[in-house]
Amino acid sequence: MRDKENSGTTSMSDNNLTDSEEQVKTTWEPDYDQSSPGARHFHNEVNELYPHESADRHLGALLTDLGERNLYDAAAQCNRCGYCETSCPTYMLTGRETISARGRNQFVRMLVEGQARDPVAATESLSTCLLCGACSSACYAKVPTPDIVLEGRRALTGYGEGFFARAAVGTLLNAPRLFAFWLKLAYLAKMTGLPRLAARMGLYDFIGMPGLAEAESAIEHTPLRFASEILRRDQELKPQGKRQANWAYFAACGPNFVFTEIALATVRVLKKNCGDGVFTDNLCCGLMAHNYGRLGDAREFARRNIARYEELKAGLGEFPVIADCSSCAAFMKSYEQLFTGDEEWRPRARAFAAAVKDILEFIPPEKAGRAAPAALAQAGRVTYHDSCRAAHGQGLRAEPRAVLRKLAGEQYRELPESDWCCGGAGAFAFTQPEISRAVLDRKLRNIASVQADTVVVGATSCLAQINAGLREAYPSARAVHYSVFLDEVTREDGQQ
Ligand code: SF4
Ligand code: SF4
Repeated sequence: MRDKENSGTTSMSDNNLTDSEEQVKTTWEPDYDQSSPGARHFHNEVNELYPHESADRHLGALLTDLGERNLYDAAAQCNRCGYCETSCPTYMLTGRETISARGRNQFVRMLVEGQARDPVAATESLSTCLLCGACSSACYAKVPTPDIVLEGRRALTGYGEGFFARAAVGTLLNAPRLFAFWLKLAYLAKMTGLPRLAARMGLYDFIGMPGLAEAESAIEHTPLRFASEILRRDQELKPQGKRQANWAYFAACGPNFVFTEIALATVRVLKKNCGDGVFTDNLCCGLMAHNYGRLGDAREFARRNIARYEELKAGLGEFPVIADCSSCAAFMKSYEQLFTGDEEWRPRARAFAAAVKDILEFIPPEKAGRAAPAALAQAGRVTYHDSCRAAHGQGLRAEPRAVLRKLAGEQYRELPESDWCCGGAGAFAFTQPEISRAVLDRKLRNIASVQADTVVVGATSCLAQINAGLREAYPSARAVHYSVFLDEVTREDGQQ
């Protein structure tokens, strides 16, 4: 937590505006054509968030650390003290109130009150939030800014309505094997170099998805056999014939479709250290649908995963559900929030969420095995980056460190500002490349300051983002997922 005295901010009240708040108000003055379709939508719909609850666009209530709150009360809980300002990457990089936690909360409050009048400023403020949650960790009032921002985003014109987003989410939900087939075709196409040619020709801009070019160039892994396809054939992971399981592995999309080595390493580590388990053969957790405006789809992903868990539980009894991407683990732990108004699904979601564990917290140091000297020598100096959804989303800081310190011993180095976001943040690196790059640069400087050779992370978005930065700026180091690190360093010399 950063020092309030060093923040350079002062507390504010409605009757005594400081310069910075005046700046916010000025920025929000309308400066656009009020007869445009976007402006009409803004006046007619965005400024009335509550009616959208019935249209499946907004959560019924937020489950905050202080209890259940409606959106307005949650946003109004921000007293604009500014204590979180130095935790907020977008504020620290720009010094602009409108893209700080305080500015964003105030903006959503004004949207609900019907006072916000500038769609351009609204879109910029809400779409540039990393949803990292660093502000909430620093906030004494426990304001759930990322959830509040998402509610505001869902009210923006066209958010979540794009053809490609609808098609991708719909296929992943209703025809996951077809989705896998299309993804393999895309990977094959990537191998031919056609997507790069399309980017050069400006085709992605033409279809209104400029971020696709960055996304495509960032994907290095193009596995033609996905983790779920491999794990489904593993006889040891089948639930049939078992009366109990010590764990069930949930394949999040990153490890399933892109970084398959993570999923396979997690399962090896679990088998080796935690006994017998099963594969859930799950669907996507729904996080992307949730964060990119498709709340109804996110609920449906959640329902199907909960039902699958209950089906397994009927035969195996209680077991923890292990996920190896912190973003997905944190989201599944919050499933109850999707169903606050639903008497049937709310308790079922709560029970499922209670069973979810991040791999970062699941294996205690005494069960993590011993590092093989040769593997450890190859790892060099080891450090740990706190993924936002592990540290801020789940409060997991000590657990992975205890394991890494035990395994790496004197080779472990604590990373300065380890919980500063890396700028990956799901698709943020593609939708907001400039801010993302600036956030990443600070992370890379910190990694260089401890001369790390291996940066251990718990989320696939961080893995892709930090490795992309390291390749460019610090190629002697590499980022690895926590499970892969455990699997590699505890493998005996010569063991496969
Ligand atoms: S989000 Fe919390 S810490 Fe930040 S200004 Fe509001 S009340 Fe203060
Ligand atoms: S979630 Fe992160 S980027 Fe968004 S307001 Fe909070 S600290 Fe800033």
